[in-house]
Amino acid sequence: MAVIRSWGGNREYRAVAIERPATLGDVQRSIAESPQVSVIGTRHTFNDIGDGEVLVDLSNLASPPVIDRARRRVSVSGATTYSELTWHLDRARMALHNLASLPHLSVAGATATGTHGSGSALGNLSTAVESVEMITADGDVATFHRGDDYFDGAVVHLGALGVVTRLELALEETYSVEQTVFDGLDWETLASRFDEVFDSATSVSVFTRWGATPGALWCKRRVDDRRASSLDVPLTSATSPRNPIPGIAATGCTEQGGVPGPWWDRWPHFRADAVPSAGAEIQSEFFVDRGDSVAAIEAIRAIGDELDEVLLVSEIRTIAGDDLWMSPCHGRDSTAFHFTWRRDSAAVETAVELLAQQLEPFAARPHWGKVFPTSFRAATAYERLDDFLDLRDQLDPGGRFTTPWFERHVL
Ligand SMILES: Cc1cc2nc3c(=O)[nH]c(=O)nc-3n(C[C@H](O)[C@H](O)[C@H](O)COP(=O)(O)OP(=O)(O)OC[C@H]3O[C@@H](n4cnc5c(N)ncnc54)[C@H](O)[C@@H]3O)c2cc1C
Repeated sequence: MAVIRSWGGNREYRAVAIERPATLGDVQRSIAESPQVSVIGTRHTFNDIGDGEVLVDLSNLASPPVIDRARRRVSVSGATTYSELTWHLDRARMALHNLASLPHLSVAGATATGTHGSGSALGNLSTAVESVEMITADGDVATFHRGDDYFDGAVVHLGALGVVTRLELALEETYSVEQTVFDGLDWETLASRFDEVFDSATSVSVFTRWGATPGALWCKRRVDDRRASSLDVPLTSATSPRNPIPGIAATGCTEQGGVPGPWWDRWPHFRADAVPSAGAEIQSEFFVDRGDSVAAIEAIRAIGDELDEVLLVSEIRTIAGDDLWMSPCHGRDSTAFHFTWRRDSAAVETAVELLAQQLEPFAARPHWGKVFPTSFRAATAYERLDDFLDLRDQLDPGGRFTTPWFERHVL
């Protein structure tokens, strides 16, 4: 079997077989015949969360999204990517509430890990899920609808509950967004006016390294967002398009310069038809309670020189809290500190250990799909973990979907 690597190239899957079922019956057979199974989406995770003995690729089961305008819902198959979904939604003049930094991800893979964009009032992408259908270890089909007892446990499932075959997502009417990049922010302003900075547009990111001055403020504003106010700080708007990664051309980035455009072409930083980010890289991200943002910035800046040695760029984002048991934003409005590292696994491991120590006082939760210390245990950070494990014991008592990653960090 050909070697399968993660998108970032930092990991090789240990799989002995990859199966591409063409029917739901084939999926049931793959589950029944394999001691340990994981589904692969678009492989944009940076750790071994989805590293099964047998990998199931659902691409052959993909079907076009089904849009229900009246109910404001779209039903998507497990392998559908956001790029494909947004193409269909655009034609129907419907929209999602937000997107991640890139649309290349599968909907099932992204929502399994609590993938997010930015926006103080916007929940992560998993919060748009209205129902999730999965084939469980015994071959049964289980569907969880919003409001059901176990729904909040089934959405961010870390690949451990079953094979997700369909999801229903909430929609709204289409809208426009404008995106502007600003220079001139300093650390003192960011610390003293954190809320003002991050509430100054519908979605705000600070791209920075941890040295003298923060890099740039990326503001994305829904044209119909009446709550969004402009920031009363002397900033200058960038005169030419930017890539978040210093030194890389902006040709693969979505349009900036305050030009209004469709939501799907502004929420992501990176365009669907381009290679996003740096390519050869590793990522990490830690979520803290939004109230701890400034103290966390100070803690990270205290080790800024060590981090900058292996760092390409960091991104600071805010995300609304949610009720999903295993979501990194569960129960708290959150600030996420993201790190795009050079692809040097040993150096990244050292940097991430250091970073996790600095963020320990804030009960930081790592992004499930990115690199974090092997010592992290979900029990230290997730109040509903026992409920999630009860659900998992009901759906998969024999551990057919249990990866070494899940044993290490969650069990
Ligand atoms: C360039 C780049 C930019 C990124 N930007 C962001 C960002 O802005 N915000 C953010 O939060 N994250 C970001 N990420 C991380 C990424 O979004 C997450 O790691 C996401 O989970 C990857 O989705 P995927 O489809 O590639 O899933 P995979 O990596 O293929 O799988 C992820 C997990 O989901 C499970 N899974 C996938 N499909 C199914 C299914 N049908 N049924 C059951 N389980 C399934 C897998 O088994 C695995 O456990 C970025 C990653 C890259 C490479």
